[in-house]
Amino acid sequence: MAQPILPGATVGVLGSGQLGRMFAIAARRLGYRVHTLSPDEDTPTGQIADAEIQAPYEDLDAVRRFASGVSVVTFEFENVPAATAQAAAEHAPVRPAGSVLHTTQHRIREKTFLQRAGFPVTPFRTVETAEDLTAAVAALGTPAILKTADFGYDGKGQVRIQRAAEADAAWSAIGRVSAVLEQFIPFEREVSVVAARAMDGTCIDWGVIENRHRNHILDVSFSPASVEPETAVRAREIAHAVLESLGVVGVLCVEFFVAPGGSLLINELAPRPHNSGHLTVDAAVTSQFEQQLRAVCGLPLGSTELVRPAAMANLLGDLWSGGEPDWQAALACPPVKLHLYGKLEARPGRKMGHLTTLGADAAQALESVLHAREALTRSRT
Ligand code: AMP
Repeated sequence: MAQPILPGATVGVLGSGQLGRMFAIAARRLGYRVHTLSPDEDTPTGQIADAEIQAPYEDLDAVRRFASGVSVVTFEFENVPAATAQAAAEHAPVRPAGSVLHTTQHRIREKTFLQRAGFPVTPFRTVETAEDLTAAVAALGTPAILKTADFGYDGKGQVRIQRAAEADAAWSAIGRVSAVLEQFIPFEREVSVVAARAMDGTCIDWGVIENRHRNHILDVSFSPASVEPETAVRAREIAHAVLESLGVVGVLCVEFFVAPGGSLLINELAPRPHNSGHLTVDAAVTSQFEQQLRAVCGLPLGSTELVRPAAMANLLGDLWSGGEPDWQAALACPPVKLHLYGKLEARPGRKMGHLTTLGADAAQALESVLHAREALTRSRT
């Protein structure tokens, strides 16, 4: 097996958002150096990294130069072109491998892979033509959700179809591109399992996290999730099996719908630390970011024990609409931890930061984090 990459070495991150930032903070704490490459400058990751390389992902010479200067390449943004991962792999190990990116960055490939491997997925049909869509609506019924095959994120590239007659307009709305039609699942709740897999195949997770979305964007997460113990065991087993069958070295999140009755359906995969796992930074012995570092560097994985129940609330750019949020008011709630990502412009829907709180149980942590978030704008009302 490959030699471990030890503290003092340089790790490379493709992508430069908040996930890379929190990865870089974890890596710096362990004494690594960090380089990041993305098309942007003064980025959330670049502000923490030793070197920020500004180049398009398609600039393969820049990618090769970047990879030659690091001991391992990982990513925080999975939609980099396959050629980018390949070019990087000529000079440094890429973990997780480009093949994991390839599968998970395209809904048709991801869902087909999961279905063939026997995992429970939301019923879907592939849509390439208007006739496919008509047949898919007939097969799955309505309501249904049409999603572009190339990943949008946070609900981008998705249209709900209430009645069969709306199908063609929905396809036009997403640009008449390759898509999947999914049955609408009247789920009881949404949960995720963030798991890490080491080079020797060891797999570990942080238990089941419960997620609530608003306008298709994650709003709050809390852990432990309020699911039956058997559902939790099953979700964790599925997550481990997904990482195993994809051969992931790194961190991957499996997002599930819990259908009425407790059965689980995989909604989607993210081959990297996930927004729902941000609470591990303050609440777990090892955060999802430190674990990504350990996994891609070939080090032993750390304990994922949740020290206390926790909740996380996202801070979207909308909170800035009436001016700078009142940070002092939120920080006046003692268990609250504030994370800001250093983004220069607050746009509606843009993830600017998050709050985490710990509590005696998840419900209490949730109440306290929501209270703290409200406090950010209370003085305006
Ligand atoms: P996605 O980007 O595919 O994760 O979708 C974002 C959110 O939209 C999900 O977390 C759900 O809240 C909702 N959603 C997506 N697909 C479905 C579905 N098939 N049935 C019900 N809700 C869905």
